[in-house]
Amino acid sequence: MKQPPLSGFSSVCVHAGHEQDPRYAHLTPIYASSTYVYDSAEQGMRRFAGEEDGYIYTRWDSPNFREAEEKIAALEAFGLTGADGKPLLVKAKLHASGMGALSTLFLAHLKSGDKVISHYSLYGGTEELFRKILPPLGIEAVIVDMRDLEKTTAAIKADPSIKMMYLETPANPTLRCVDLEALIAIAQEHRLVSAVDNTFASPYLQQPFAYGADYVFHSTTKFLNGHGTAIGGVLVGRDIEMMKGPVEKVHRLLGANSNPFDSFLLTQGIKTLEVRMERHCHNAMEVAGFLDGHPAVAQVNYLGLTDHPDFAIASRQMKHAGAMMSFELKGGLEAGKRFIDRLQMCLRAVSLGTCDTLICHPASMTHYSVPKELREKYDITDGLIRVSVGIESVTDILNDLDQALQ
Ligand SMILES: *Cc1c(COP(=O)(O)O)cnc(C)c1O
Repeated sequence: MKQPPLSGFSSVCVHAGHEQDPRYAHLTPIYASSTYVYDSAEQGMRRFAGEEDGYIYTRWDSPNFREAEEKIAALEAFGLTGADGKPLLVKAKLHASGMGALSTLFLAHLKSGDKVISHYSLYGGTEELFRKILPPLGIEAVIVDMRDLEKTTAAIKADPSIKMMYLETPANPTLRCVDLEALIAIAQEHRLVSAVDNTFASPYLQQPFAYGADYVFHSTTKFLNGHGTAIGGVLVGRDIEMMKGPVEKVHRLLGANSNPFDSFLLTQGIKTLEVRMERHCHNAMEVAGFLDGHPAVAQVNYLGLTDHPDFAIASRQMKHAGAMMSFELKGGLEAGKRFIDRLQMCLRAVSLGTCDTLICHPASMTHYSVPKELREKYDITDGLIRVSVGIESVTDILNDLDQALQ
């Protein structure tokens, strides 16, 4: 596709992936069509054979999916070069949800007897996938503390059935980080496929492909969409043949496709990614500073505070500290519930990455399905509050938190 030269991240957010509409609509219309027609049997054959670019069936592909996919691929590869010294080329596959994209990742790469190495404090759904869905298929997760590089290397050396390294950084809800550069180097040394959940950071703050990751995954439901209007997930891979082959096969046959309307919403949302992230991060820093000095607050977990244990790693691999934080109230569970109930502007909701500030209580919401002893192992205490700081005027966020903490 012909694209104008784009030198800045926001220009890529706005323009990448867009193709001139044949009827000159400004935005790509929503292609609410399950199937596509051919001029002739010959043309149908060429499309099925992949000899002619075109659309066939919306479980496979759609102009709306493609626009969002090309935008996200361009953002994840922004400014990076491949082994050949040319701009890095990666391919994205959009899915119905983040969990759909993760299912494709694991099923395209792992078979019975294979293992995936990962760490504590993963997203609740990913953790459940590892614990409940993959084991009956003969695929096991080996969970180690991957902040310890020696332990990680030893675990990989001890078990040749480990085929993939799966990282999530920053991780939910304590914002613990792992070292992308060091861990991906270990994965490469041991010929493991490496994949990174980049949902909390967004491609504006962190680019795992810069360290040689094989896959980057997002729940597009969060910062990429940015407005909470649609569920979605994307798998971005640097091995184009793998993306066009096994990944596409699994995506198509599991029926994990997105839909034209949600993809349209995602495409519009991505256009403001940089502008939103700048404001999100600015507001978050102010909120963290406020909470950190508050007498009712025992502990604030925010990557922009120098006392966060992963401040140094985050400063190296992220552009800013992000919009996510969590904090512990001195009064524990009761104080947490009271605080949540008193909020007036900030919303009581799970999910994250929307324009509105969303506040949740992991022990009773996102991590409710995780057994208590595991929760405690991941530092998810009963009084922990998670905040996805929005883009409202920061004074209003601070005033709301202040009155709720009284
Ligand atoms: C939301 C989320 C997911 C799952 O994505 P869905 O779109 O809800 O299926 C995975 N990882 C992280 C970090 C998330 O926040």
